[in-house]
Formats: sequence, C-alpha cells, structure tokens
Amino acid sequence: MSHESASPDIGHPAPPACSAATALAGWPGVGAQLAGRLAKLDLRRAEDLLLHLPLRYEDETRLTPIGATRPGYPAQVEGEVVACEVTLRPRRQLVARIRDDSGTLVARWLNFYPSQQKQLAVGRRVRLFGEVRGGFFGDEMVHPRLRPVEAGEALPEALTPVYPTTAGVGQATLRKLIDRALASLAVDDPLPPAMCRRLGLPGFAEALRALHHPAPDADPAALEHREHPAWRRIKFDELLVQQLSLRRAYNARRARAAVALPPRRRLTAALLERLPFAPTRAQARAVAEIAADLAAPHPMQRLLQGDVGSGKTLVAALAMLQAAENGWQAALMAPTEILAEQHYRKLADWLAPLGLQPAWLSGSRRKRERAAELERLRRGETLLAVGTHALIEDPVDLPRLALAVVDEQHRFGVRQRLALREKGAGALRPHMLMMSATPIPRTLAMTHYADLDVSVLDELPPGRTPIRTRLVSEARRDEVVGRVRAACLDGRQAYWVCPLIEESEALQLKTALETHETLAAALPELKVGLVHGRLKADEKSATMAAFAAGELHVLVATTVIEVGVDVPNASLMVIEHAERFGLAQLHQLRGRVGRGTAESVCILLYAQPLSETGRARLKVIYENADGFAIAREDLQLRGPGEFVGARQSGVPLLRYADLEADAELIEPARALAEQLLAQAPERAERLLSRWLGGREALLRA
Ligand code: ADP
Ligand code: MG
Repeated sequence: MSHESASPDIGHPAPPACSAATALAGWPGVGAQLAGRLAKLDLRRAEDLLLHLPLRYEDETRLTPIGATRPGYPAQVEGEVVACEVTLRPRRQLVARIRDDSGTLVARWLNFYPSQQKQLAVGRRVRLFGEVRGGFFGDEMVHPRLRPVEAGEALPEALTPVYPTTAGVGQATLRKLIDRALASLAVDDPLPPAMCRRLGLPGFAEALRALHHPAPDADPAALEHREHPAWRRIKFDELLVQQLSLRRAYNARRARAAVALPPRRRLTAALLERLPFAPTRAQARAVAEIAADLAAPHPMQRLLQGDVGSGKTLVAALAMLQAAENGWQAALMAPTEILAEQHYRKLADWLAPLGLQPAWLSGSRRKRERAAELERLRRGETLLAVGTHALIEDPVDLPRLALAVVDEQHRFGVRQRLALREKGAGALRPHMLMMSATPIPRTLAMTHYADLDVSVLDELPPGRTPIRTRLVSEARRDEVVGRVRAACLDGRQAYWVCPLIEESEALQLKTALETHETLAAALPELKVGLVHGRLKADEKSATMAAFAAGELHVLVATTVIEVGVDVPNASLMVIEHAERFGLAQLHQLRGRVGRGTAESVCILLYAQPLSETGRARLKVIYENADGFAIAREDLQLRGPGEFVGARQSGVPLLRYADLEADAELIEPARALAEQLLAQAPERAERLLSRWLGGREALLRA
C-alpha cells in the first residue's frame, strides 16, 4: 500500500464514538446477576456486544418433516404436542412427544423451566431445533431448542447465529442484547471508505450486520468457515489492533530510560584479538546492531535468532563486555544447569586473559562460595554473572545490572524474564538480549513478536560439514551399535539419546539406566557415560566435563542435553524412538553434532508401525537441515499455540484471526498500524478501545 495515496483519507477526523462505552450493567433488563454472567464472557460495555460474533449458524429457514430427519444431523421440525410429562425414572426429566404428518418424535430436557412445560401443553404447536438420534424412547432430540409457534407462522429468512455463551445466558438473551446494541450504537468505522475499498474489505458496520444477521442469500459455507468478506474485515481489524498494541508497547519502551553503554572497544577488542577464529559476517552484523542499541539511553529489547551452532554465545559475550567496559554489570541466564555451566566455562575461558572472572550462580553452588560471590556482585566488583534461574532468586543483588541476556528465551516464562529485568538499578531498565535457536516463523515474528527488534545469525561458522541424517528401523539396532563402536575406535565420540517417555518420569529414568547398561555391555572396549535429569548437578557436570575432555566415548543421555551442549569432537548422534520427539526437539538434538570438522551423522531410530504424525515429522527432519524450514513445517503440523505458549501474555490473543489462514492480512495491517499511529492517532485509539477496552494496560507489562 502506498503512503501517498493512503494519507489523505486517513486524515479525516473519526466520527464521534457516541455511547459505546456505556456499561452494560446499566441497560434496561440487565440486572446485576445477568451483568455478572455477561462479564464472564468479557461483555462489559455495550460496545463489547458488537464484537461478540457467532460461533456458527443454524439453518432455521427450513422445516424437515419428522419422518425425513436423519440421525446425527441438525434439523428443525414443527408439530403438535401430543404428550408431555415429567418422568422421574431413570431420572427427573421433561419428556414430550411431537407429531406432524410424517411421524412422531420424542423431545427430552434434563433441566427445564416451568415456562417450558407450559409451552409444551398438549395441543400446542412448537418448533424444535436439534440433532435427532435413536434413543430409549425411539427417535428423539435431547435438549432441542424450543419455540412455540402459531400454525402457519413464517420461517426466518436468514441463518440463525449461535453465540459463544456461558451458563445462565441463553441464545435468545444474547441475540436480543446484540440486536439492541446494533440498533442503538453509532457503529463508526475507523477506516475511511476509500481505504476499505483499496483493501477489498466491507465497511465495519456492514460487516457486523452481515455476521450477526446474515442475508437470506449469504453463502452459509463462507460464513461457517469464516471466509466471508465480512469475516475478513473483522479479522483485519483484529490484526490491526494487535499491531497497534505491539507498536505502542514498543514506543512506550523506547520512552523509558536505560544506561547508555557506548562501545569503548577496550574489552571487546581484546577478546576478538585473542579468539582463535574471526566472527562470521552474520555475527559481526548482530554485534554491530546490539552495540548500537546498547549505546542508546533507552532499553534494548532484542531477539537474537540463530540456528543451533551459529555462534550466539560469542555475540552475547561481546555484548556483556560492552557493559563491563562501561563499568556496568551484565548477566546471562540459561534454562538448564548443563547449559549455564557450559556458558560459564566458555566465558571464563575467554575472559581470563582479560583479567575478568565471571560469577557462577546455580542452585548447586555451596553456601560459602556463594556468599562470597554474592557479596562481590552486590558491591559491583564482579561485573559479569552467569547462571540458571538461580540468578533471579532473592539473595542475588545486581545493583549495576545494565544488560540481561536470556539464552533459549522461550524456555522461560514472562515472569522469569521480568524478574531478571527487575534486578536492574531503580528507574533505569536493563537492556535485554533474548537468544533463541528455535526460529520463529515469519507470521509469528510479525505478530506475537513484533514488539522486539530482531537480529538473525543466518550463517554458520566456516568449516562445518553438513550433518547427514539417516532413518533406521529399530530392527537394525545392532548395526547402529556397530557404527557407534567404529566411530569411537576412530577417535570420535557419540551421543545416544534415550526415548522420551512423556507419561512417566520414573519410566524414563528406568529406560535411561537400562540403555546405559546394555550399551556398556555391548561396547566393552569403550567408556560409556550417562546423564539424566535426576542426577545431582555436580554429578551431571562431572560427566559432561569428562565427555567434553574425551574421557568418555559414548554419552547416553535423556533430553537434558537438548539445548546448547557443545562438544565438537562428538560426530555421531543416535536418537532412539525418534518418532516420539517433537520437530524442534529433534532439530536441537541433532544440532549437538556437526560442531567440529568431522563429517557428522544423526541416526534416527524409529519403531514400527509409525503413526501418521510420527512419519510426517521424521520426513520433515530428514528432508530439512535448516531450522527455519523446520519451524515452518512445525507451525503447519501443530499450529502456533505451542510457539506462543511460553510467552504466555504480553500480547493480545487473537479471537478471530488465524495466523496461517489469514497470513496475507498481516502485512497490510502492520503497514496501516504505523500509518494510523503517525497520522491519525485518534482513530488508532478508537480501535484499541473498541477491541481491548480497558485490558490494554494489563497487556503492556
Ligand atoms: P549456538 O548459536 O548454538 O549457541 P555456540 O555459541 O555454542 O552456538 O557456538 C557453536 C560453536 O561454534 C562453539 O564451539 C563456538 O566456539 C564456535 N564458534 C562461534 N563462532 C565461531 C566462528 N565465527 N568461527 C568458528 N567457530 C565459531
Ligand atoms: Mg547456545
């Protein structure tokens, strides 16, 4: 969309918002009880009713003769009540018998009101809408919708909307309230007509009417599948509001103060000089982007995305040194003990020649060591800290924290990331660098993560040979054991990943112990180690250190090694029951090899028969090496829920739009959001208030 053509029509003042914000509780006929129930549906203001859109539609425009109804299909029948009674066995219920020219039907209600009994008096005419099934009393409808009618009463001309509801709020009540809202509120359109035309979208009021009261000739399938142009308009507005809200959160953050950390190139240059390798172009670019952010007096909020092995740790280290060379503190938090310790060792290694000693904070440190370390951090003598979530616990005091780095950020909840940020100095917010090897698919990056700046490491350090992936049936396990032996006798090392048993941690542990035992027996000439989640931290780290030092040939492991473990000499990975793992997990695990110069192989052992999803996943992992491609496939197989899961909140959830199905609406929504904020902030305000009401304040935390 071009800026020039769009700006003139956006400039018009938005029409007045009228009484849209009226509390529903004040409406005639809405007492305290009903108001409370409506609030459960997030219906508090009159305006909220407009956006309470049907879940689906029922076709009451036709009658089906009772004799022609089909079990399992919804139908509307009309007939005369020939019997009606409250039975007590097998339980208390209202049972009525209805007759038309073609047959009779039983209708039952387990919960019913005296008014329904009256409507079902023998001789009255009623319409029932429901699903027919064969039951104890013959063909029956259970809990059909009931409507008393006069003989010859006209049928509705349009589909009947069915709204999401809650106990004690009937469809009829909702319909009445929504109709009243439609009739009495001035439904202004924050988008000028010219813009709607350009986007091929109907006006807002028109779209609402089409969804609440479909035209008699409306395409039921398009309504049902939410492909009708009216649905597109609503989804567009919703995505637009999401973009507005993210953009505003971004701007609000830029308005806050942080310590400016200009690059002094003292420590960073010293590290780069001593490294045995040069940064890749991608690393250099990310480092420059971060350096510029850190130099600014407002908090950085940046996501560093890079496939496994792309070298994120170095980028983080350079950022931390930029804080240190300004005399401020930086902390790096990792989700597991193994990973945090590895970061610690690597940093300690790199930084020792610079005369810097990072603090190491994990749950397993001894009290006395810890106390001294904490004291140095509290006095600001130690500038760099590495740790697990132990970093955010109470006794840790980082008064000069100016940069917080979170590795594998999706593994932490919002609250944990906030807790690290809160360690900072008073009103000054620390800069945040989040790192992730789980690539975020483009649609998600443009929506749920759009309030972050992103740096991407799209290049692996040179000299890596691609990992070859093999799919091998469990039946050939012995051959695989033979390959492990050959590789290790050839001076290489191997990982053997135990099957994932999600239902039972105890069973998972048992399997790991057994696998270790059988492999150790099958490979008497090799040293076989074992790590699993139940080991004490120091046992775990001793085993990892022995493997890293080459003292163990084979490391049998549960998924504790999934993230970040870096032993370049390990070139063979075997994953048992690979079909049980998720795609992201398989990709992460596979990324543990291919870190050195030797040709690496990842063997995915699978058990037959393979389920449909198991097969689909293995195919994706076999065919793709690129984490982004895998994430895209993953999004297709699973939907965005799990990607967003760890983020928990902070972004308004989408009620109607679907990131995959409506992907083409995201880009125009984003462009328009920027334009609205710049040129017509009152329209932006209007949209935010319409969709989010008072909720936005919460979401901005
Ligand atoms: P990840 O992005 O998965 O966290 P790491 O930071 O663990 O990757 O880096 C993987 C390996 O590559 C490490 O051994 C690291 O020292 C090495 N490495 C990082 N950058 C380079 C580079 N530019 N050239 C060569 N090796 C590098
Ligand atoms: Mg890493």
